[in-house]
Amino acid sequence: MKYINEAFDTNWVAPLGPNVNEFEKEIATYVGVKDAVAVSSGTAAIHLALSLLDVKEGDIVFCSSLTFVASANPILYQGAEPVFIDSEPETWNMSPLALERAFQVAKRENKLPKAVIVVHLYGQSARMDEIIAICNAYQVPIIEDAAESLGSSYKGKMSGSMGDFGIFSFNGNKIITTSGGGMLVSNHIVSLQKARFLATQAREPAPHYQHSEMGYNYRLSNVLAGIGRGQLEVLEERVKRKREIFNTYEKELGSVPGISFMPELEETYSNRWLTAIVLDAQITGFNRNELLRALDKENIEARPVWKPLHLQPLFRGYQFFAHSQEEVISEKLFKDGLCLPSGTNMNEEEQMRVINCVKNQIQIE
Ligand SMILES: *Cc1c(COP(=O)(O)O)cnc(C)c1O
Repeated sequence: MKYINEAFDTNWVAPLGPNVNEFEKEIATYVGVKDAVAVSSGTAAIHLALSLLDVKEGDIVFCSSLTFVASANPILYQGAEPVFIDSEPETWNMSPLALERAFQVAKRENKLPKAVIVVHLYGQSARMDEIIAICNAYQVPIIEDAAESLGSSYKGKMSGSMGDFGIFSFNGNKIITTSGGGMLVSNHIVSLQKARFLATQAREPAPHYQHSEMGYNYRLSNVLAGIGRGQLEVLEERVKRKREIFNTYEKELGSVPGISFMPELEETYSNRWLTAIVLDAQITGFNRNELLRALDKENIEARPVWKPLHLQPLFRGYQFFAHSQEEVISEKLFKDGLCLPSGTNMNEEEQMRVINCVKNQIQIE
């Protein structure tokens, strides 16, 4: 409220203003990058990153398949073609094996991608060392979609800081929110200056509104940036609480045969944005959909793991590279996986209600 009031008291109820500048600096410092550009959504941040990398009609962009549609929509905005990369079992994120295979095929066909979009699902970091090594070998830049992983880290590096560009989302459902908003981060200061320019209608510095390029209206409002600054102050607390929620679920349900939890890769620290589990119906005796229905009957909202983008009607016909010939990891996670209620405002009693509902399901069966 302090930051929002400041915006009103100083009459900075506008896109841009002091809160925007400070919010950008605070995020850049927190993540450990040189600069950040506050924008109206995470999707807008991805779109700007693709523009900066000159992705255009006919170009190819590799993208994680197991993610929310917003990771890939901006590829279509640019008239480019997505190629989807499967997950690998330990992180649920981009499979370096599938990525390498996709690169080999692309190289043979002389159609290397302009960029690779790597997602850190539910706060868990992808295998960045391997992915960066592969992308460097083919000299293709990385965009880290860290929309779900603000506050997570990989080998001491903050999520979003390892690619050429990183993006965050402050949509209502994310670990911190501005109601709607996003951030583009990078160590390429000149590129981020260009991003600011593109995000403000590509308006050139002339009093008569001069434009030579197509731009967008993507900047964040000064009022919403005020919310972001306040939220950033509680981020560490949120991460701690999210991890507590995960740990409670794991303590209570981790020993149930047939239930397994989203792993946390060694040397990574997940913000545990959502607690996700996978069921082995052969062992539990009930499948994912049956569990979702049982929870729903108790008025508990749970959701399947993201539907892989290569299965979405929107992306029918685009190429997909699986983790191995035998296994499509993302499809298996979609079929058997679900996210349990993970809101930081949930109290212990409420969480025990969810846990007991899962346990009861086992006794019924
Ligand atoms: C939320 C989300 C986005 C998009 O962010 P918005 O701010 O809603 O545009 C992109 N990628 C992933 C993985 C997300 O979860």
